[in-house]
Amino acid sequence: MSAIDWQAVRADFPILGREVHGKPLVYLDSANTAQKPKVVIDAVDDFYRNHNANVSRAVHQLGSEATEAYEGARKALAAFVNVHPNDLVLTSGTTQAINLVAYAFALPRLQAGDVILVTRMEHHANFVPWQLIAERCGVRIAPVEITPAGEIDLPALKAQLKAPVKLLALTHVSNVLGTVNPVAEICALARKAGITTVIDGSQAVPHMPIDIPSLGCDFYAFTGHKLCGPTGTGALWAKREHWQSMPPFFGGGEMIREVRFEKTTFNDPPHKFEAGTPNIAGFVGLGAAVSYLDGIGMAAIAEREQQLLAYASERLQSVPGLRLIGTAAHKAAVLSFLIEGAHSHDLATLLDLQGIAVRSGHHCAHPLMAFYGVPATCRASLAFYSTEAEVDALIDGIAHVRRMLG
Ligand code: PMP
Repeated sequence: MSAIDWQAVRADFPILGREVHGKPLVYLDSANTAQKPKVVIDAVDDFYRNHNANVSRAVHQLGSEATEAYEGARKALAAFVNVHPNDLVLTSGTTQAINLVAYAFALPRLQAGDVILVTRMEHHANFVPWQLIAERCGVRIAPVEITPAGEIDLPALKAQLKAPVKLLALTHVSNVLGTVNPVAEICALARKAGITTVIDGSQAVPHMPIDIPSLGCDFYAFTGHKLCGPTGTGALWAKREHWQSMPPFFGGGEMIREVRFEKTTFNDPPHKFEAGTPNIAGFVGLGAAVSYLDGIGMAAIAEREQQLLAYASERLQSVPGLRLIGTAAHKAAVLSFLIEGAHSHDLATLLDLQGIAVRSGHHCAHPLMAFYGVPATCRASLAFYSTEAEVDALIDGIAHVRRMLG
């Protein structure tokens, strides 16, 4: 076990010291968005106080400082997932990243009769964009099924990986079930069958060391706000050959080389795909976030979260009338559950009155809710700054709600 003082790490997050409804905040919604350490808040503050200017356009000092800070953040983020910065397009989040793949890569290539495979556990961000383009080009969407424990049905998927399938949309880690999918194994199979893989890494990058090249995928998307960075930040990595062959999606400033009435020529990737003024301060904050996470070490973070997951799973399973949804062998620290006799929204609202923040709802995963035959679940999601005492507070909170609901 690492010798990290996790209480000291927790103290880096100012918001975790506040109260909600007169009770200490118990924040168990990190899969929704992660809290921000002081270094991130300070980096954003410092950018606006001391360096604010637009990127790339200005020759003045502030302009070059802002450009350096923005490109520095790209480099830090690229190093964090072990890729070349020129292959990492900065986006507003996973949603924009996957839409970019759908419209700039898939739509021009797919033809009527082709099939896109989408797993049953995808977030709507890796589902709806495929449906939108499928309608336009006469492509069929087919589901990749899961087991009741919430794992990909691998034998069934293997049988599906053949013509006319052209693309597979797969999450690395499920935001509802916590399942960690065997992405490298699946991508190797897809590659053999000539199928493009689009991986949603939103819930993976914050919780384990990620080395994108070793996964063997075509595209990997992730979002900054779950990574202790500001909202409105994220990234899309693609194989260089894809960036080079893709037409631009958004047109505007920054992404061009020369614009004429007759013809416009475009900047090189990644700038070709970054039209307009980006969220400069946000990326400066995200750069600070990944440096902070690197300072702790992603392996240590993964180990700590596994410890918390084991503790929370054991404690939750002992709660009478509780049904855990998502019991895969390899999980991240996400616990979705139902309590007999309590609607998820009522449960979450009554927990909130005790200062405990959990998410309730469909978690942007309607097809997954349909598989389990439930409209909603409650979800407690942990991060490295969570504590066993917070898990205990959740268990006590649930017991309190059960007494209230009789
Ligand atoms: N995919 C997954 C698995 C997610 O959990 C989320 C965020 N809930 C997203 C995609 C969307 O991320 P964003 O809203 O930051 O684009």
